[in-house]
Amino acid sequence: ESAMIEAPTGSGKSLAALIPALVQARQGKRVVIATYTNVLAEQYWRKDLPTALELFEWTDERPQPRTAFLVGRSRYACRQRMREHGSVPVVKRFAERATMGLDSEFYATARGGRERAAWQDIAVPPACQGRECPDYRRCFFFEARSAARAAQLVITNHSVFVSDLLVRNATEGDVDLLGDYDYAILDEAHDFPSAAASAMNFDLSAATIEAVAGVVESAMRAHEMSAEAIAHFVSKARRALQQAKERAAASLARFGDAARPGILKVAPESLLTDDKVGRNYVSDLEPHLHEVVDEVERGFGAVRDALAEAQSVEQEDGGGEDEAIVSLVQYLDDFIGSCRLLAAPDEVSLTAVTFGRDRVQPLMLSRRVVDIGARLARLMETGPPCTMMSATMTVDGSFEFLSSETGLKPQYEELLPPAFDTKSAAALFVPPPDRIPDPTATRDMDTAQVYYSAVADVVGEVLAAVGGRSLVLFHSRREMEEVYRRVADSTELPTLIQRSSGARSVGDRFREDVPSSLFAVRSFWTGFDAPGATLSCVIIVRIPFEVPVEPEQLVRHAWYRSRGLDPFREYTLPLAKMMVRQGSGRLLRNDSDRGVICLLDPRVHTRGYGEEVLANLPPMRRFESIEEAVAQVGIVASADSLQGG
Ligand code: SF4
Repeated sequence: ESAMIEAPTGSGKSLAALIPALVQARQGKRVVIATYTNVLAEQYWRKDLPTALELFEWTDERPQPRTAFLVGRSRYACRQRMREHGSVPVVKRFAERATMGLDSEFYATARGGRERAAWQDIAVPPACQGRECPDYRRCFFFEARSAARAAQLVITNHSVFVSDLLVRNATEGDVDLLGDYDYAILDEAHDFPSAAASAMNFDLSAATIEAVAGVVESAMRAHEMSAEAIAHFVSKARRALQQAKERAAASLARFGDAARPGILKVAPESLLTDDKVGRNYVSDLEPHLHEVVDEVERGFGAVRDALAEAQSVEQEDGGGEDEAIVSLVQYLDDFIGSCRLLAAPDEVSLTAVTFGRDRVQPLMLSRRVVDIGARLARLMETGPPCTMMSATMTVDGSFEFLSSETGLKPQYEELLPPAFDTKSAAALFVPPPDRIPDPTATRDMDTAQVYYSAVADVVGEVLAAVGGRSLVLFHSRREMEEVYRRVADSTELPTLIQRSSGARSVGDRFREDVPSSLFAVRSFWTGFDAPGATLSCVIIVRIPFEVPVEPEQLVRHAWYRSRGLDPFREYTLPLAKMMVRQGSGRLLRNDSDRGVICLLDPRVHTRGYGEEVLANLPPMRRFESIEEAVAQVGIVASADSLQGG
């Protein structure tokens, strides 16, 4: 049966997945365990799986099942490319140490940003000669892939799991990545919809054209497709590629001159009658879209056809299948197919024109799938049963929201109680309603400044009462920067801010520097782990409601309205409640942790949904005074108490 299980941090989810998976594997079944990131998947593979394996007694009659680890191809190093760059010191060091050929092993070897950047030169390309490569038998990626197909237990990530579903669907089951399996377990299931969206969405820009052309060029170069019989077709493909690149880039540039952000295509088209979608519909730009898609289809189609001709000539000559060419043809087919969907989107999805911030970054044509849950439901409906689990899956005590977002209709549900005694380990601070203005009433410059100053005052008071040690979570970067500037100017305590890059290093500094406080946005709401006194307080500045301004959000809201549903009640509010649960879940990471959760948004007092949001927090006493909240949990802000964490 399919299941959804919410199990709090510290309850041992990984072993709870691995032990029954190994029991099944021992009985000859195949099980796939997928988690959100590569880091988490590696943790399963390197730490949790060996622990689980030790719990069993393996004998000749009951041998240990074959297990394997697989992530996406671009996360493995290509031995051919490593040889090409063999004189680069970091590549040389990596070649001596790599066991699985993963980017994580490379980054552990690299010293500094410049060495890290060298990964791009050696990563497995999207198309290569495969079995004809002299290194095929030692290839990190192909070895991992064939081990995964032969294993009874496979550890992977959500992205590979979704790609497997998509490729099975596209080829009607002829091709797959993971082989047939009997059971799937998805950990960190709350992130599964976003992993699925990344796999289904597509962006076309001048950079995409360059990248695709680069892959084809270097594949043709690297694999010396110049056997005499096919040389004519290969040079034809080269000429076609040059032309395709130039013409597609020129049509995109023409589009860029005329373009403005908006919605270009929607499926179903009836959503264009929605006021907000209609207002953002840039119908006059449609001819440009068709021109770009036609150019790509014609240009890159000619490259593909020339390569396919080369392949058939080679086969006629008794040369068999040239994998380098076959994989390039497949790669180009996929690319052309994605571009076609921009001009003719399938339901429920859209094509939007977007630009980078302030139009500094160039034009992009973006395909966005809106109803991810429905699509996943179709992809998984005939598949084997699946268990989804995570520390945060329910909203208002129900799995309904995540079920609609992931498409999984579980026959079995279980919601385990908190692993820690939150009533004694944590307290909730909600400032009185007059301390901070309503954030929705701060749209003009002056009221916004008043709002930022009021938030900064309260955050400053909290940091003083707790002695720093706080994670301050924001929903917008602008708000974070405004509040950070004010707080950093007025406190002696160390403060850190998450910049657009370097999230990992700022997280490490926050963990190491106990009295510091970290001001952060999105990625720190989930999955950030800082056990101990270094994180004694989580401040959620405002309820993180998604404001529908982006094309994808406008269409999603219209899609709800078109079915007679209220998008705020059905999507925006449950999503915000889930994020508040995830953000507050950063506080207690082990049974000796103590601390305060602060929810500063005055709407918890003034709006009908305020109490509903609070009800999604773990059970704990609520205070309107930060000093009382701090006293309740017994955390002391004196300098002495901070020594050594
Ligand atoms: S098989 Fe492909 S990825 Fe593997 S080493 Fe050869 S060229 Fe690189």
